[in-house]
Amino acid sequence: MIDRFDDAVVLPTLGTQLGLDLNHESESVARPGQYFSASQVDLDTYDQIIVCMSGGKDSIACLLHLLDLGVDRSRVELWHHEVDGREGSSLMDWPFMTSYNRQLAAAFELPIYFSWLDGGFEGEMLKENSYSRAHHIETPEGLLTLARDTVRALPATRRKFPQVSASLQTRWCSSALKIDVGRRALNNQTRFNNKKVLFITGERRQESANRARYNQLEPHFCDRRNGMKARHVDAWRPVLDWDEERVWDALKRHQVLAPVPYRLGWGRSSCMKCIFNDRRIWATLREHFPGSLEAIADYEQQFECTISRDRIPIMDLSRQAKPFEIRDVKALAQALDSQYKLPIYASSDYPWETPAGAFTKTGCGPS
Ligand code: SF4
Repeated sequence: MIDRFDDAVVLPTLGTQLGLDLNHESESVARPGQYFSASQVDLDTYDQIIVCMSGGKDSIACLLHLLDLGVDRSRVELWHHEVDGREGSSLMDWPFMTSYNRQLAAAFELPIYFSWLDGGFEGEMLKENSYSRAHHIETPEGLLTLARDTVRALPATRRKFPQVSASLQTRWCSSALKIDVGRRALNNQTRFNNKKVLFITGERRQESANRARYNQLEPHFCDRRNGMKARHVDAWRPVLDWDEERVWDALKRHQVLAPVPYRLGWGRSSCMKCIFNDRRIWATLREHFPGSLEAIADYEQQFECTISRDRIPIMDLSRQAKPFEIRDVKALAQALDSQYKLPIYASSDYPWETPAGAFTKTGCGPS
């Protein structure tokens, strides 16, 4: 039997708990502690401050903003969810992303904890009459491996790409690979009990009509401030009202070099082969990263379902646009190297530059 437990139960519940209208069917209802605008919070009242660090400009801007506000660094830690997991898949993400985030954290002298769904995107996509796999979560005490609920859930099948949509039920990758992993990381660490935690993410209203309606501060869906665990968790989106210019200004002021995807011409730093990629990105991958689309093309044939919602096979799509001319040869060389070898900070030998992808809309879509 094919059961859609995650889609039918887990993901809609996440949406409700988030206070977001994930399906555009209803307006969220204001709750205590929920603010549409909250550009300032009293950072000193939080025991722990978690910055969800994707490695893109907006999450870096969140961190830089905290530093500008004089945050006590000893309370700050970075979390990064690895989209491909660590079991051997390299289907979706940039190969350097883990190494880049590790070096970014080291440059700011902050701890970083990685977490992932076993098998990553590919493992979840290939689920066939089976359960979702375990979550792996790094913590200060070591690696936690959390099994999945096989009592309430029934085996399920995906065997198709997540579909482009604002709905997290249809676009299951963000939920399964990021939101749900973060939820379990918060819920399964006793170090957060009886503590006040600030959970920071880098969405901006300018990115989409959906994000324009987000609250800037609200109880996180893992908040249990009134429960037995007395775990107070606020979700804060400090750059929600920022425009892109302010984001790049922050990186320039702190002399943090633009991450590689923007240097190649991408307008956003998402998975290398994100389902939201437009024709130009697919054309660029085909031109500059030969062989990078074949695995996706193979799966399209197996699933009889394309990654593009327009139902155009990836190889055809990649021929319908002109690839970027990539002039940044250092970024291009870095792009396929799993070890991040470029500097994090600009210097006199490596000056800060506005990247080719800044202020463009190429490949835009939620992450
Ligand atoms: S970046 Fe794109 S492909 Fe990757 S998880 Fe987000 S929406 Fe899915």
